[in-house]
Amino acid sequence: MPGHRIYLDYNATAPLAPGVRDAVCAALDLPGNPSSVHREGRAARAAIETARQQVAALVGAPARRVIFTSGATEAAALALTPDVAWDNARGCARLLVAGGEHPCVSNGGRFDGSAVGTVRLDPDGVIDLSALERALDAEPGRPAMLALQRANNETGVLQPVRAAADMVRARGGVVVCDAVQSMHRIEEAATDLGADALFLSAHKMGGPKGAGALVLVNPTLEIGAPLLRGGGQELGLRAGTENVAAIVGFGVAAAHALAMRHAESRRLLQLRDAFEKGLRALFPQVTIFGARAPRLPNTSAFALAGLPAETLLIALDLEGIALSSGSACSSGKVRSSQVLENMGVAPDLARCALRVSVGPGTREDDIDDALGALARVAQAISVRRMQPAA
Ligand code: PLP
Repeated sequence: MPGHRIYLDYNATAPLAPGVRDAVCAALDLPGNPSSVHREGRAARAAIETARQQVAALVGAPARRVIFTSGATEAAALALTPDVAWDNARGCARLLVAGGEHPCVSNGGRFDGSAVGTVRLDPDGVIDLSALERALDAEPGRPAMLALQRANNETGVLQPVRAAADMVRARGGVVVCDAVQSMHRIEEAATDLGADALFLSAHKMGGPKGAGALVLVNPTLEIGAPLLRGGGQELGLRAGTENVAAIVGFGVAAAHALAMRHAESRRLLQLRDAFEKGLRALFPQVTIFGARAPRLPNTSAFALAGLPAETLLIALDLEGIALSSGSACSSGKVRSSQVLENMGVAPDLARCALRVSVGPGTREDDIDDALGALARVAQAISVRRMQPAA
């Protein structure tokens, strides 16, 4: 079947959700600047505000607390700053990040490198809450910001954000949650998470690439200084004429995700479980990372010891199957996974780690075909390896 591709890399990015392309094209035709007071400007403004409501509805937060950015990376940089005020507190002396966070978080945002500490993960990929408690209590006079993702992009492992947030907030700290992989897949509201702020990325849920949002969930939370200064857009926190089309597309994708989330999360779980059942049947020695922890319904990270990920990835690509090794955002770059390293996975096994992430376009047949291709490719590589060198 020439040209038939099976896309199993939804954690890297998702194809456009229904309605997004048309909405984006219509928004591109809006001539006005959203800051202008004339009718054309007001139409562009209205399109942005509709999107804001759609994103807010997905998250379960007030629309006025949604700040559009160019993506999750920018939202993280905006939020991870010592210059924050919340409740009756002002200023964070330090940032704690969980091991295995996305690089846009683990790099520490606007904190000085010396103020950033890492809290380790357990072998299942879950934050070690007693290590977090120790880190918080080690310096009681230095209020901490914790950055903890809800779901890991590589393993799908879910973090106990609520429990961690209760711990941090009881000690006068503040919590920022990377909800990029979770909000469109898990039925929960921002307030369930207990974080003071969270951030999202449009392209992970079928919106355009290059749009995201920071949501200030705690009504008292204030970010001291913007990243970009200028015209004062987005509550003064993100200057620059808004990317109206991308924001509109984000809104439509968020509305679609909200409408589908209940049914999709169950369907994806069945597909993922079918994949893992088939995988274990084909390769009884397979390691599935984070399998004992609560995980996203759509993600399976696994390794076949002795079969390097890049070799499998390239061979599977030729078979028409798109999946990923290591972190999605580093696809194409061969480097070992920080997430697996933080889980204590041996480097040799980590080099064999692949990720399948299913999504709205995935069908049962795709899972069967992917397993068939994996069996063929693994067999071919093993046979080639056993042949004596010429
Ligand atoms: N956080 C997680 C968990 C991600 O998976 C990604 C992208 O892969 C990001 C943050 C960065 O998102 P963006 O591409 O919108 O900057």
